[in-house]
Amino acid sequence: MFSYEEIKTIRKQFPIFKNQNIIYFDNAATTQKPFQVINAITKYYGNFNSNVNRSFHFLGQFSTNCLELSRNKLKAFLNAKYREEIIFTSGTTESINLIACCSYNLLTKYDDIIISHSEHHSNIIPWQVLSQNKNANLKVIPVNSEGELNLIILKKLITKKTKLISISHVTNTFGIINPLKGLIKTAHKYNSLVLIDGSQAISHLTIDVQNLACDFYVFSSHKMYGPPGLGILYGKKQILDKFPPYKCGGGMIEKVTLKKTIFSGLPFKLEAGTPNIAGIIGTNKALNFLGNYSIRKIKTYEKKLLKYAINILSNIKGIKIYYKNSKLTKILSFNLENINYFDLGKLLNNHGIAVRTGKHCAQPIMDYLKLNGTIRISFAIYNTIEEMDIFYNSLMKCLDLVNL
Ligand code: PMP
Repeated sequence: MFSYEEIKTIRKQFPIFKNQNIIYFDNAATTQKPFQVINAITKYYGNFNSNVNRSFHFLGQFSTNCLELSRNKLKAFLNAKYREEIIFTSGTTESINLIACCSYNLLTKYDDIIISHSEHHSNIIPWQVLSQNKNANLKVIPVNSEGELNLIILKKLITKKTKLISISHVTNTFGIINPLKGLIKTAHKYNSLVLIDGSQAISHLTIDVQNLACDFYVFSSHKMYGPPGLGILYGKKQILDKFPPYKCGGGMIEKVTLKKTIFSGLPFKLEAGTPNIAGIIGTNKALNFLGNYSIRKIKTYEKKLLKYAINILSNIKGIKIYYKNSKLTKILSFNLENINYFDLGKLLNNHGIAVRTGKHCAQPIMDYLKLNGTIRISFAIYNTIEEMDIFYNSLMKCLDLVNL
């Protein structure tokens, strides 16, 4: 467990907290960036800016080396087997769309794709569009009254027609950790592929893709202290090898004539065009930052913050917390009787507290639970118990104002 002093030292690495008195509890939307990441990006543009995999001058070689160094580091971070299994995209959203597009030929009429009721829109819409285009069925794993996946129903939904299951590791609405191992084992018995949307798990839980045995694992750098606009797609080599190019252009070819193109192999085949080089360099530094701490320790610390938050908020009259079970990590969603979540978010903002309000890009689950929205607080490594106390006191002041 981190000591108070350790957290203070970590927090000092985030310039955003230096010059302003803010409480940032919107980490599920994006995390703040440490000096290492910001400085590396500035240094890159100031000293080394150039394109990758094209120009053989020293700047070009520097950029290309940085890109491949980042790929190697991501391979180690995820415990992937091969470096070609790491594909750079623009974010989780693009990664899922890439897999959905490339899976087009996997599906035939009346095949099934399975998602859960709790997915982010990014992990619903690409499958909806694909299943409509292919006349396939989009099946949905329901959740129980605690927001957890109903795996008994999954066993009934899955058949030989199931080609792909796409599921979040941690839900972005309620922070529930899904039971992936059992799900992946069941899916593989039916030869179905499994894609894990790791957006809310990355930098909060240890990820070992070989141990999980998932076929794809996707996430965005901006949710793990890195810059926005950079996504990471892990896919098993033997599956990605069979994928057709998802977009076509520079950097992904062996030979082009006006009649025909011979494509490069992995990873370039799936990385057409100039990538987000500064984003990749920033991601490398975010991995360095994370490498200073153990993810297990981060998870324990964030769990402590969450437990503390649940405990103090539970005493408030008229509060409904979604949920309080043991499968939660770093996200707490709640509502208060007689006050609209949006109005409360605005009042908290007046106290310098940043929270997220609304449906959190997950309308189907919110509609199912008959919720117009919730207030969501989400933690990262730099948040503290003291901040949670200030949050509680500010919340009480907001409620006093509302109940005048
Ligand atoms: N899936 C989940 C679970 C998310 O929380 C998010 C971001 N809120 C996304 C997908 C989309 O991520 P991005 O916008 O970085 O592509």
